[in-house]
Amino acid sequence: MGFRHSPLIHDLELYRFGFSYIEPPIQQGAAFRDGTCVVIHKDLDKTCASLARFSAGDAEMFRELHFLYAVKMRPLFTSIAFNAPLPIDQLKDRLSGAQAKEFLSHAEHDLFSVVRKHFEDDRIRTLFTSYMHVITTESVPGAGIVFPLIFANVMEFTLPVGGSASFTDALARVIVACGGSVITGADVKEVVVRNGRATAVRLANGGAVEGSRFIASAIDAPATMRMAGEDLFPEDVRKKLNAWHWGNHSLVTLHLALRDKPVYRSAEFDPDINRAFNIFFGMDDIEQVRSCFDHCAADQFPHVLMGNGACNSAVDPTYAPTNGHSAFWWPFAPYAVDGDPHNWDRQRDDYTERVLGVWREYASNLDDDNVRAKLLFTPLDIERLNVNMVRGAVRMGAYIPSQLGINRPHHLLSGTRTPIEGLYLCGSSTGNGGGINGAPGYIAANAIADDLRLERPWTRVAAPEWRQ
Ligand SMILES: Cc1cc2nc3c(=O)[nH]c(=O)nc-3n(C[C@H](O)[C@H](O)[C@H](O)COP(=O)(O)OP(=O)(O)OC[C@H]3O[C@@H](n4cnc5c(N)ncnc54)[C@H](O)[C@@H]3O)c2cc1C
Repeated sequence: MGFRHSPLIHDLELYRFGFSYIEPPIQQGAAFRDGTCVVIHKDLDKTCASLARFSAGDAEMFRELHFLYAVKMRPLFTSIAFNAPLPIDQLKDRLSGAQAKEFLSHAEHDLFSVVRKHFEDDRIRTLFTSYMHVITTESVPGAGIVFPLIFANVMEFTLPVGGSASFTDALARVIVACGGSVITGADVKEVVVRNGRATAVRLANGGAVEGSRFIASAIDAPATMRMAGEDLFPEDVRKKLNAWHWGNHSLVTLHLALRDKPVYRSAEFDPDINRAFNIFFGMDDIEQVRSCFDHCAADQFPHVLMGNGACNSAVDPTYAPTNGHSAFWWPFAPYAVDGDPHNWDRQRDDYTERVLGVWREYASNLDDDNVRAKLLFTPLDIERLNVNMVRGAVRMGAYIPSQLGINRPHHLLSGTRTPIEGLYLCGSSTGNGGGINGAPGYIAANAIADDLRLERPWTRVAAPEWRQ
């Protein structure tokens, strides 16, 4: 979402290192059980025409919010994302005028009330409420502040050509081209601290890698603290990081290998739904969205499965063999399903059929002939494959006010510096949070360049400011 606004694509000239992306012309769709759907295009007029079929007022509101948040305030949002978070009072001092006041007023809302504030039609409200959850935001008072930031990216979905690993592969090539080397498959067990300074990391195989100038950790903040030694952190930091809230909901993904791409029943209402890149379905009204998240919070398999997915091979054919397609749907789900994460393994076949069953309500051609293979990737699998996504936390920690902005992970660490000289935090549990955007690493790189007085071959994103 919104990745093209990340300064590092141009700063690091990633296009020279094998990274490119596609912006699908039909960005998103939401299909409903009654056969209707909403479609969001790159083209604003087309998007508003789709919304106007449900509510002319909501279509106008979308247009207004688009100009305000996706166009006018875009530079402000980029500067907020790519600078270390400021204490709220300092941020408020830097923002003035009616538009800034309106932006900040979203902090008075939770995820449901913020959507009700802007939209009147039930379906459109349902879509935007589930959309807000996509980045793992919890619906608590204050969480509404993410609405303008997310809304700015509703028409900004991109798909990396060849898969998301093309991004990390390109970053690795930059390092190698600059004379560095990348070691993979090496498990870091300890950050070695000598005389208050981080000097090396020790590996599980007994080896060590020296960090003569600095060490930056993209591993989650609680694990990094433990690796360096908890005693070196103030008590308040220790307490908070040891009680880190990983989030109430994760994702369970059903991957399908298909002969033909999914065909949606609501194409009769609007044929463009079949060409939409990111598709939401499962929810028909806002109460179902609420119940889904209540079930996740109670560690239950949601009675109403809902979420988004895509058929990536329909946008970039390299995602599947030439005679087929790959598609996925990732409904929201709890980590400890029915009270125990191992239930995902015990009842994998049953959960697979339940997820596929719901998908089949919306797509008419997912019969056994079309489905060549299926694979359920559960919240437990997420944690197994990525130790810093504890409890399947895809953003390395819940988005709640006490873990957002200056509080992520703690106000003493949010500038990416730690109490240990030479040890920096980056990664999704820091800065302004997770997602494929490069922001936490960018913020850490600037702090390191400042501290070591390094020459910056990039122009720093200006600090947030809005006077109007
Ligand atoms: C199913 C799923 C779908 C998602 N969809 C999207 C999406 O569509 N768009 C989006 O923007 N984001 C998405 N995300 C979130 C996104 O993947 C994360 O926000 C992002 O990967 C975080 O990047 P990071 O560098 O902070 O951490 P990571 O990508 O997790 O990188 C940290 C690395 O450190 C490694 N590591 C951890 N501990 C150690 C150790 N002790 N020693 C050595 N290495 C270690 C990990 O293995 C990992 O490779 C999704 C995540 C999941 C799981």
